Amino acid sequence: MTTAITGEIFDIKKYAIHDGPGIRTTVFFKGCPLSCWWCHNPESLSMTTHRLYRPERCIGCRECVTACPNDAILEFEGKLQWTAADCRYCETCAHVCPAEAVEFIGRTMTLDEVVAEITKDTLFYDQSSGGVTISGGEPLMQPIFLMQLLDACGQLRIHRTLDTSGHADTQTVLKIAARTDLFLYDLKHMDPEKHYRYTGVSNETILTNLQQLSRQGARIIIRFPVIPGINTDKENIDRTGALASSLPGVIGINILPYHGTAEAKYRNLGLKNHATDIERPSGDVIASIARQLESYDLEVKIGG
Ligand code: SF4
Ligand code: SF4
Repeated sequence: MTTAITGEIFDIKKYAIHDGPGIRTTVFFKGCPLSCWWCHNPESLSMTTHRLYRPERCIGCRECVTACPNDAILEFEGKLQWTAADCRYCETCAHVCPAEAVEFIGRTMTLDEVVAEITKDTLFYDQSSGGVTISGGEPLMQPIFLMQLLDACGQLRIHRTLDTSGHADTQTVLKIAARTDLFLYDLKHMDPEKHYRYTGVSNETILTNLQQLSRQGARIIIRFPVIPGINTDKENIDRTGALASSLPGVIGINILPYHGTAEAKYRNLGLKNHATDIERPSGDVIASIARQLESYDLEVKIGG
């Protein structure tokens, strides 16, 4: 297979067991049209490469400063600073760093390169009824690459799961559905105004696409992120349960408790973290939400 199509990818995770059935390879696409306050992959939001400097790992050897061909790394009071105007993203500083304190997140990959990574673990998929999961970011931001990747995996008889926010043009979503075996579909909030406030987009398109997918016969697992103080009120849980149980395509609902582990990533990427005041939900809160959703005759699972 030879093709010039490329995608922007920020990670490929092997042996994933929380991203769909069995053992899976999860391909993380870069770029997302949402900006959820609780996003745990802030490095995925932009389509462009991110430079990540972890000062806690830095041993102060200055190898990066010496090696940079553009004098883009400055030292100030014992701290390093990258100058945006001079850095050409050649990644030399990351290659020479002995402490893995510098990392560049995101790279352009061809379809063949991604498929080659996925097919390395075909044996595990066969033994565990697993496959590939496409996640992000939002994979629907790169629809042509996504379609071609799903087609390639389909030709290889690899089970295909798509982890999505559902925020995309409906015709595109339906074309993707014809190439997808299972959707992991986020329902973050049922109220359009609150959805807009906490994610940057309304939920209207997302809800329309969910209904269209169900009508078209897609198999869907709803993913509900539990974000205390934002979407855990009784009314929102009831509306989520009522909608999910009304859709024949929905085969279950996964509750994903907020874990707050991305704080260092936000700091090191220089991005604003809106979730500093959000607390992790207690076991009691999770159990109560699970019971409330189960009352809608839904198969509820805590975790991915
Ligand atoms: S990516 Fe290249 S240009 Fe930028 S700071 Fe590192 S070595 Fe310098
Ligand atoms: S090469 Fe790595 S460890 Fe050395 S100063 Fe640069 S970032 Fe720090």
